[in-house]
This record gives sequence, C-alpha cells and structure tokens, in this order.
Amino acid sequence: MEINNFIKTIMEDDLKSGKVDEIITRFPPEPNAYLHIGHARAMVTDFELASAFNGYTNLRFDDTNPTKEDNEFVEAIKEDIKWLGYNPKNVYFGSDYFDYDYEMAIKLIKKGLAYVDDLSQEEMSQYRGTLTEPGKNSPYRDRTIEENLKLFEEMKNGVYPDGAKTLRAKIDMASPNINMRDPALYRIIHINHHRQGTKWCIFPMYDFAHPLQDAKEGVTHSLCSLEYDNHRVLYDWVVDNCDIVKKPHQYEFGRLNIENTVLSKRYLRSLVDSKKVSGYDDPRMPTLRGLRRRGYTADAIKSFILSTGLSRINSTIGWDALDVALRDDLKLKALRPNAVIEPLEVVIDNYPEGEIEYLDMPNNQENEELGNHKIAFSKYLYIEKSDFIEVKPNKKWKRLALDVEVRLMHAYFIKATSVEKDNDGNIIRVHATYDPQTKSGSGFEGRKPNGNIHFVEKTTAIPAEFRMINSLLLPETEETKDLDFMERLNPESLVIKNGFVEEFLKDTKPEDKYQFIRNGYYCTDKDSTKDKLVFNRTCDLKSLFTL
Ligand code: ATP
Ligand code: MG
Repeated sequence: MEINNFIKTIMEDDLKSGKVDEIITRFPPEPNAYLHIGHARAMVTDFELASAFNGYTNLRFDDTNPTKEDNEFVEAIKEDIKWLGYNPKNVYFGSDYFDYDYEMAIKLIKKGLAYVDDLSQEEMSQYRGTLTEPGKNSPYRDRTIEENLKLFEEMKNGVYPDGAKTLRAKIDMASPNINMRDPALYRIIHINHHRQGTKWCIFPMYDFAHPLQDAKEGVTHSLCSLEYDNHRVLYDWVVDNCDIVKKPHQYEFGRLNIENTVLSKRYLRSLVDSKKVSGYDDPRMPTLRGLRRRGYTADAIKSFILSTGLSRINSTIGWDALDVALRDDLKLKALRPNAVIEPLEVVIDNYPEGEIEYLDMPNNQENEELGNHKIAFSKYLYIEKSDFIEVKPNKKWKRLALDVEVRLMHAYFIKATSVEKDNDGNIIRVHATYDPQTKSGSGFEGRKPNGNIHFVEKTTAIPAEFRMINSLLLPETEETKDLDFMERLNPESLVIKNGFVEEFLKDTKPEDKYQFIRNGYYCTDKDSTKDKLVFNRTCDLKSLFTL
C-alpha cells in the first residue's frame, strides 16, 4: 500500500516550488518507554513519506528531559524500529546538541529575547494567566542583558539549586496563545544524565530544543501529533530568532487510538508494575513487542497504519482492522496444520489396534507452492469438543453427531456410534466407525458427508497450551465508561486452553506463525518448550467453521 495523505501533498508542493530540495524527516521518541501501536503511526508516516521522495529519516532520541530516561529503552526502541523494517539514516541524541542549545540561548539573551527569572514554578503559573485572561510580566523580566548573561552562566555552573531560576523567552505575556507567554527555555535540574553525566545541570525545554535539533540535522518536515498544534508558533519563533537559515517546519497529524485499549505510557507502566500483565511484551499489550509476541507481523502493522489514513483529526480504530491486515499478510504464507484446542477423544472401533497410517495434507490449501506434509491416523484421535453433539439438532449442524457421518479432513469419513460419559454426565469419549473406501484422494463420491472437521491423531499428538488473547479492557459501556482503566480490566483477557497439535509442529520456534485449520491465526510463544508447546492466538479466522 502506498502512502498518501495531506503531508505528502505539502511535501510535493515544497519540492515543486523549490522551498526544499530534499525531504528529511525524523522520528523523535523519548527513551522513557517502549514503543506502542500509536508510535507506529508516527514512524510509518516519517519513514514512508521520506522514502516516497527518496529522502531519509533520522532516529533522534529526545532525551533532553533527564529525569525519566534510560538506556534500556534506547536499545529496545532501536530494536523495535528495525523489526518494523525501518532503517534510520542516522541515530542522534537530542542531548548531543546541548552545547549548541546553550549557544542559541546566549544568542537570544544577547538579542534581548530571553531573561533569567527568579519566580518559582508556582508563581510562574500564577503569573501566566488563563485562556480568558492575559498573564502578568514577571518582576525579573527587565533585567539587563549583562545581568542575564551572568545569571545564566551561573545557572550553568551549578551556583543555584533546582528550580531556583529559569531562563525564559521574552515574547508576550498577553498572547492569546499561552505557549507564547514567556515560555521557559531552560530549567535547573541537578541530575546524572544517561549520556551527559553531570556535565550539565541546566536542561533545555522541549519547545526550545526540538526546533534546534531539527535545524541542526537539516530536517525539512518535522511531523508530530496534534497536541503540538499550538506549539508551532513557538517552534517558528525559535527557528526565526536563532537565525536558522534552512528553516525546518512543523506539521501535525491526528493521534491514533485503539478501541478498548489505552496507549498512555503511564497506564502501560502501571499494568506492568502491578503485574496485571507479564511485562511490556505480554501479548495483550499494545506495545510493538507485545503485538509481535502475539503474532502480528511488521507488514500487517504497517499496512494497518496505512489503511487508517492520516488527517488532522485524532482517530479511534478497532483491532479488527489490524486483524484484516494480518490475514491478508499470512493467508498464503502461513502453514495450516491441525490443532485441537479443546480436545474430545474419538475411538474408531473398526480400525485395527496398534496400526498407524500417514496421509497427505497440503501445507496451505490456497498455496500449492508450500507443499504437503504427512498427518497420522489411527484408532485414537482427538477432535474439537465443539464439533460433536449427541443428537443432531437441525439441518444447520454440519459437524459430528450420533448416526451422523462427517469427513475427517484429509483422512476418512467417520460416523459416531456411541458415547462414554463420566459420573457427571459429561461426554469423555466418542465411539465411531470409519469407512475405508472414503479415504482422502481415492475419488470416493458415493455419499456426501455432513460437514468436514479436523482432528489430531492421539498417540503422536504433542500437548500444547493455547493462550486465547482478548482485549485488555472491557468494552466501553454505560457501566464501564466512568471506571478507572485499572478497574475496567477484562478478567478474560487471557484464557488458557490445553489441547494438542500434530507432530508436524514438533520443531516449532518462537514467532513461527500458523493458521490452525478452522481455528484461527496463532504464533508460537517464547515460553514454548519441546514437551509443552505454547501458542498465542493472534486473531480468529474471518468466519469460523466455514473453511
Ligand atoms: P509522552 O507525551 O507521554 O511523552 P508520547 O506518546 O508523545 O508520550 P514520544 O516518545 O514523545 O511519546 O513519541 C514519539 C513520537 O510518536 C511523537 O512524535 C508523538 O507525537 C508520536 N506518537 C506517540 N503516540 C502517538 C499516537 N497514539 N498516535 C500518533 N502519534 C503518536
Ligand atoms: Mg512526547
């Protein structure tokens, strides 16, 4: 799928008019969390747009806010970007530009466009005014350039404690845009920065550092989500007043939200910290590593993102659209073996004891190129519990029942004859007979079976755990809509079933993906061992039981 959106049009126009001669974008994650599906929208947009014009994209870690960053996240983010299939041209760290940022701050002070303020955080917000009322000038606003230069240098040299002074832009305390009411450019934080150590105790604010980083890298189109919309004037103010020659420009797009899912970093962290999930890669998590472990492919995620389009409106999309993309991607690629998820034993009474035969089964019915493999058949089999009922209820029942004949796919027709039950009346075993002349591939056309069901031969079957993954949050309803997200957790977000897969899967590896016949798309989990395979359900087949 080709990328096509309003930003692409802007880029085309900019190239045509000569405003830019190439397209350079950047993806700027803060290294304080794992990437999630929302970040994928930003990433796909940055990388696909630049490459559509033979330009390039930098990965820039926005690590100017030193209190929350960690190297663990830096490595994880790099890995996730690579997994998605993107190659940044350069990898930069915003903190590497601290000298440049400092130089630009001095430039602004010398132009009379920045001053050192002694107001506390709290006082500053009182002075800021509101959406309807203008702010007031700080009593420190009119310090001389010399005094500001001296104080700013002292701030840098560690003379003052955290929060004692702030460097602010001198713009307009009455501006209708609150971001323009003398925004902070630098604050004091005595901390050990993950890259800079203790070299700095003053740190630039995002709104100051970001345009400078873009400028330094020659970024032409700085794309970000909609919440930065009313920061754009400030972005331009910094670019203009720092005398940037090749000016970068900011463009905003709507954020992506997913139904019954929360993407906020704070919430994802609390899920992990409270052990409601097993980690950031829990297959229920909307993180890229969670989605990957669940079985979504990078291509499916990319085409999902492209299919949602891009506009200047935030959008909320259901998981279904991602499932559609996954099925499209795997339909012809994935092997389609047999797995019985909720097993019911079937004994074929007229099949010889101790005998086992091997029958041919295509690896993917819709793609001959994937070849065939052998499936075992014997007197002892497993079928899905849901494929049997004692008494056929109506014509629509296209599965097994007493006195009803079905085809075991790629094997024989069988007819159920009796059931064994436990003391509670639960069916524990079905007895059946098979008809040898109905063998698959024999061309038998004598009778029409009452449906086709799959099975796994019992003695060769490998035990498997199936992790049925459902949404982490209950759907939003009248009752749940006011609940805190932690109270809206779906108690059935993970349902474990124990069944069997055919021997063919004995060497399966984590991240191998399958379409289990009539069951859905599954992916081998990293918890899988030789004796107990573990599969995550990625998504259902479009419609169950139709094949
Ligand atoms: P926070 O604001 O809590 O720091 P963030 O989600 O903005 O979180 P960043 O690491 O700053 O996290 O995000 C990197 C980029 O990804 C930003 O440009 C941001 O606009 C974009 N982004 C993040 N979440 C989404 C989303 N849900 N939809 C679209 N873009 C997003
Ligand atoms: Mg952010």
